[in-house]
Amino acid sequence: MRESLNYIVDFRLKSESELPLDLNSKQEIFKAYAFRKQWPPYTYREHWDVTPAILEEYTKFLDAENTNRKKMELQPWVTFCDSKCAFCYYPSTMFKRDYITPYLTALKKELSMYSETRYVKTSEFDEIVLGGGTPSVLSAEQLIDIISFCKQNFNISRDYMIKITGSTHNLDEYKLEKFAEYGVLQLDVGVQTFNNNIRRMLAIQDSGEHAEEIIRKARELGLYVCIDLMYNLPGQTLEIWREDVKKAIELNLEGIDCYPLEVYPGTMLDLQIKSGQIPPPGDWRTEALMYVEAVEMFTNAGYIPVGHDRFTKVREHIEESCLNGWPWAGILTTGAGCFMGYLGPYSYQNIENAHRYIECVSKGVFPIAKIHKSTHEDMIKKVMERLYLRLPVNRAEFKERFGRYPDEVFPAEVKRLEEKGLIEVTDSEIRLTKLGDVWRINIAWEFANAKINL
Ligand code: SF4
Repeated sequence: MRESLNYIVDFRLKSESELPLDLNSKQEIFKAYAFRKQWPPYTYREHWDVTPAILEEYTKFLDAENTNRKKMELQPWVTFCDSKCAFCYYPSTMFKRDYITPYLTALKKELSMYSETRYVKTSEFDEIVLGGGTPSVLSAEQLIDIISFCKQNFNISRDYMIKITGSTHNLDEYKLEKFAEYGVLQLDVGVQTFNNNIRRMLAIQDSGEHAEEIIRKARELGLYVCIDLMYNLPGQTLEIWREDVKKAIELNLEGIDCYPLEVYPGTMLDLQIKSGQIPPPGDWRTEALMYVEAVEMFTNAGYIPVGHDRFTKVREHIEESCLNGWPWAGILTTGAGCFMGYLGPYSYQNIENAHRYIECVSKGVFPIAKIHKSTHEDMIKKVMERLYLRLPVNRAEFKERFGRYPDEVFPAEVKRLEEKGLIEVTDSEIRLTKLGDVWRINIAWEFANAKINL
């Protein structure tokens, strides 16, 4: 376990030039692109339906040693949720007490199936993350039991982290105390907004005040708290967004993941917007300006932009193996509907329907619904996705792996992005500029769609 649970890094961005954007030139950001992508490449959205042949190939892959030696994340999912937020596209199952035992039995069986493979026996995990769904619908004891099971059956690093995802409406003081006693490092909670009007509109179960109370309690108990905040929500003005960011800063949170709203087809929100019940979100320019506002406020308050969408104050988020090891490290995810797994060249998504998931696992078959095997070319492009993760691409390391420098493999893209002021190329690395930070997803797609020059 990490020795110090409340170690806060007093680490400011080293110079003004490292801030992601000079906010005096806000209008400059719109010159880079005429649209803003919301979702990066190489995610489950591009996976294909599993076939017996690829499942067999994947199973054989798991029989071999993991030779890359990078520490990984173990991510069991609790698929249940007791609510339905209007924007939610997560493949969760409505919570019913009767489902708990068969689901947890299947989850442990799937974990065991993985833990018995040679690939997993030769892998080391430094994070156990309970995802979902909303794991906090279960009792503290049930959640701790899953974590203990992982600790008994996997090679867990001496210096490891436990994170639990939850919703403030079903967390209480007892659960928080149990988590803190057990040594949970971090609570990840989907706050989305503290504004009660918007919370009601989005069918979020509790009030902003209740969310705040749970967060304060968790922090008093020594837990790190990392929240999701969403921007460009219907009815959310720039002023309301600033209030949310201000509240997050005032709560002195360890991390804030800021996501732009994506209206996912078929969600309640999508239907409500189409029927005129709820106003649509702002356009991409509004979205970009809200992001820039968050960058300014968080960085001025001492937060560091890190990873996909996070602003952090703690070293653990900056040093996370699973983040820094992209695209080689690996996330072993299990449970109905989990979709963030990647092991070696394989990325996969599990069967969403909890009953079908349980049935599949009970037959001893990996419950995979969709899978993608990255080619050599995909892996080259995935390395460039480090820019999306706000990580540099080391030129020498790239050449060692692929035989050429990244700017030789992607000459047109690197030139174009450099000319637009979105990336900087030095002798040692390629990295984002302040302006590029706003356009990270677009940049990742440029490399994913490129014709490479090997
Ligand atoms: S609490 Fe989370 S999983 Fe449940 S409906 Fe809301 S967003 Fe989805």
